[in-house]
Amino acid sequence: MTGLAAGLLLSVPAIAEADGKLPVVATFSILGDLTQHIGGDAIALTTLVGPDSDAHAFEPTAESQRAVAGARVLVANGLGLEPWLDRLIDASTFKGELVEATTGIEPLASTEAEEPAAEGEGAHDHDHGGPDPHAFQDPKLVLTYIDNIAAGLAKAAPESAGAFRKNAEDLKARFRALDTELSASLGSLPSENKRILTSHDAFQYFGRAYGIDFVAVQGMSTEAEPSAQDLKNIVEQIKGGDIKAIFIENMNDPRFVESLAADTGAVVGGDLHSDALSAPGGPAADLLSLYRYNAAELLKVLK
Ligand SMILES: [Zn+2]
Repeated sequence: MTGLAAGLLLSVPAIAEADGKLPVVATFSILGDLTQHIGGDAIALTTLVGPDSDAHAFEPTAESQRAVAGARVLVANGLGLEPWLDRLIDASTFKGELVEATTGIEPLASTEAEEPAAEGEGAHDHDHGGPDPHAFQDPKLVLTYIDNIAAGLAKAAPESAGAFRKNAEDLKARFRALDTELSASLGSLPSENKRILTSHDAFQYFGRAYGIDFVAVQGMSTEAEPSAQDLKNIVEQIKGGDIKAIFIENMNDPRFVESLAADTGAVVGGDLHSDALSAPGGPAADLLSLYRYNAAELLKVLK
């Protein structure tokens, strides 16, 4: 009886890992890319929020729940990027290793908290004053993401720890080289050209890293729409000449920004990739390409 029970228990992980790979779930495309590079052939990865899709506003499906239930490792960003995650973890009775990839990163505060507008209108919209979750937009902070993911995978599959560590070090070297490259190219821009507008506030970390001032129409999350007052402020800033150009993003509705541009005559740049990769074959199909693509789009307009 005990022998049989033990045998059944032992067979459970064997079913989940039928192909011998560690089942891993990443919450959105950028984390999926990092996790795949680190895990290599040793993992079977499911990414919940795919390319060109919005991780803030995701609604988990029955399929998401099944993937999380079967996972040994769940890689999440944390800092409030995935407001739906706790409920999904509870619903799927996930018992594996939860990796919060931002662990150890000192987060920036949400920009709204610093602005006078937060006193009145707009303060009800969403979480003001919380941490800014978009730390993956600074290559130096991506190094911490990589370390955290490698450590989490190694805990769940110690036999592959050496391979994870090596893959992680290779990937970190590529992000260090990227940082050097972007510091040189974006660092050479004239300072008066460094104030631009985007649709949602995902580029504070990127802006801090490379000295570019991003102003957002929509705030930190994509869940709330900008108020009439927010839009009026933005139009005044553009008309006052403070803002050099407007960029739209790949994962949300560009109409706000397009109508702003029509109203003000501002220069519109290409679409920046903020919280999502492009589909395979697209210009930002992995995180290194995403950075190079965004930097090229910025340089085209801001030079
Ligand atoms: Zn975002």
